[in-house]
Amino acid sequence: MSEPMVHPHLLSTATRFATLRQDIHRHPELGIDTCRTAAIVAERLAAWGYEVHADVGKGVVGVLRRGQSTRTLGIRADMDALPILERNGLPWASERPGCMHACGHDGHTATLLAAAEHLAADARFDGTLNLIFQPDEEGLTGARSMLQADLFARFPCDAVYAFHNMPGLPVGVAVVQSGAFMASSEEVQITLTGRGGHGAMPERAIDPIPALAGIITALQTVVSRNLSTSDAAVVSVGKVRAGTVYNIIPESATLMLGVRTATPAVREKVEQRIREIVQGQAASFGVTAAIEYRLLAPVLVNAPEETARMHAAACAVLGADNVLEQMPVRLMGSEDFAWMLNERPGCYFVLGNGTGSFNGCSVHNDHYDFNDAVIPLGAACWARLVEDYLQPLGD
Ligand SMILES: [Zn+2]
Ligand SMILES: [Zn+2]
Repeated sequence: MSEPMVHPHLLSTATRFATLRQDIHRHPELGIDTCRTAAIVAERLAAWGYEVHADVGKGVVGVLRRGQSTRTLGIRADMDALPILERNGLPWASERPGCMHACGHDGHTATLLAAAEHLAADARFDGTLNLIFQPDEEGLTGARSMLQADLFARFPCDAVYAFHNMPGLPVGVAVVQSGAFMASSEEVQITLTGRGGHGAMPERAIDPIPALAGIITALQTVVSRNLSTSDAAVVSVGKVRAGTVYNIIPESATLMLGVRTATPAVREKVEQRIREIVQGQAASFGVTAAIEYRLLAPVLVNAPEETARMHAAACAVLGADNVLEQMPVRLMGSEDFAWMLNERPGCYFVLGNGTGSFNGCSVHNDHYDFNDAVIPLGAACWARLVEDYLQPLGD
């Protein structure tokens, strides 16, 4: 296995950024208001000479311009934590009970800050670098909040990039995969309306409950009968609500579905089949159906050319034998960076957080911790990408 190629400056700052990561870990923040973390990010970026915009849909953007080129590049990190009680006994464990950096966003933020300092101090590039720090990735609203604040109109980006740590994958190993990489996430609410009545006189009512039962059963065939075995999707009925007491036929019934799909084509197919099944079943029982489809995150799709650039940067830092082009297992999680990739080409890749019972502990678990050894490696990948993407002409 090859040794990583990390700039000496990034090695010399590794301990400092590990300490910063642990400080952010100690003070986790939930959702859209990651005020303390955003303030640290803004203060550091400004100190290193970035033009700082701390008001972009509750996120922070740091801009660094060099030379004359009109080329622009965006790199994004997420800053939010999770509502979990931390139970790993670490010296830097959360000081806010019930709130924990259990997904490593503290590490993503510290890694991009380490890269930011290095790029301002040492890097040769020609163009505009936009560093994007977003809140609420976990609630899947942070990216949209920044996009709705005109992120890409105010800070044009020819391409955007991000990474996530991956427990179970060794430190120094990356997966840079082209095409569909993370699943879509959707919430679907179905409301069935019939006619309420007395439980002893069903012929005078239109009962939505048998319709609801029929729909739940029929929905099981979307994945099992309508998709190829090589496609992946999940259709789960997560909530059912109908009726009050035993002798009343209710007027309406509702169910909520959680839907995940692995590619845009599968997403469309699954939505079409859910709509057909719900409407067809409802009609057969004489009730009406209203379907509310909420796309929380689209399928995350990495663009081929931008993925090739990320792949080259990762190979240069980690060694080609440490960069995989495909995840060993398909990821059915979702990631709201997909909204940014909907608007700009780019690539989202993963870096190993390590193996074993500690570093390999799953994200969203109360024993998880981001591995600080990833910070200089991730920062080196970002620096390499910037120097390649915004390479001075004539180089
Ligand atoms: Zn997470
Ligand atoms: Zn995460």
